[in-house]
Amino acid sequence: MKRIFHKDLAVLLLTAAMAFVMPLQAQPEGGKKEPKFYQGDGSEVPMWVLFYNDNFSGAAVKLRQLSMDSLPDEVNLRLIKDTSEFCFPMKNIRTSPYGWRASFNRAHRGVDILLRTGDPIHACFPGVVRIARTMGGYGNVVVIRHENGLETVYGHMSKILVKPRQIVKAGDVIGLGGSTGNSTGPHLHFEVRFQYEPFDPEWLLDFSNYTLRTRRLHLDKTYFGISIPKGNKTPIFKADRSIIKERPVRDKPKEVYHTATKDDTLELIAMQHSTTVEELRRLNPNLKRVKAGMKVRVR
Ligand SMILES: [Zn+2]
Repeated sequence: MKRIFHKDLAVLLLTAAMAFVMPLQAQPEGGKKEPKFYQGDGSEVPMWVLFYNDNFSGAAVKLRQLSMDSLPDEVNLRLIKDTSEFCFPMKNIRTSPYGWRASFNRAHRGVDILLRTGDPIHACFPGVVRIARTMGGYGNVVVIRHENGLETVYGHMSKILVKPRQIVKAGDVIGLGGSTGNSTGPHLHFEVRFQYEPFDPEWLLDFSNYTLRTRRLHLDKTYFGISIPKGNKTPIFKADRSIIKERPVRDKPKEVYHTATKDDTLELIAMQHSTTVEELRRLNPNLKRVKAGMKVRVR
């Protein structure tokens, strides 16, 4: 009896100690949340891969035919937190733009980037590989799902160097350039999609200097899809409207005050601080007469 009692007490004490220690352990440095993992197919990937109540299947680039109505009217996406979270997938000339291809009478859902067979292709943003296999016209294709819900697609590769569910960082080499699938010469076919709907990758990629155009992307539902141009009209892609230019962070101007002496006038104060009487009046709208000891704002 006595031994059992001791054993029970030990368990009780251990449980109490665990209850005390566990919540502390569940909060690693910086109060970061414990990552949640999705364990489908036995492999662990972060929970956020399950966007828009869908699965993480590699069956198709476009897993569901979404009606445009199911897209939110506006989407604001944070693309990166810092520059380490972006890498230009392939730094070379963009040979073919996104949009309607009159010569083929079909839509081109990405951009084509020139390369030599064997050139390394880099993951554009951090994410988890959803597709890494040969697939029809795409040839050897990799699709990466990113934490903000975007997916990037890399087609026609000669070799794939990642596996489905692999976690990648921006800049990781995911494959080598090639001309597999429906391709007439070595190039990278690169797409960006949100909720499986493609939009112009040049809203993100600036081919003039191989940089990311913006840290935050504003997408409007009307930006998606490619319409067949009517007559000879060139389709207009609303690239400019989709980009919110980052405003440079300006420090608030520091206010500077002058304590007036008994002989001070606005003219003297203005001269002393290399400014004008008009500027002083603007900065001090309630000022009528300068009196000794008065604080006059000069900047
Ligand atoms: Zn293409």
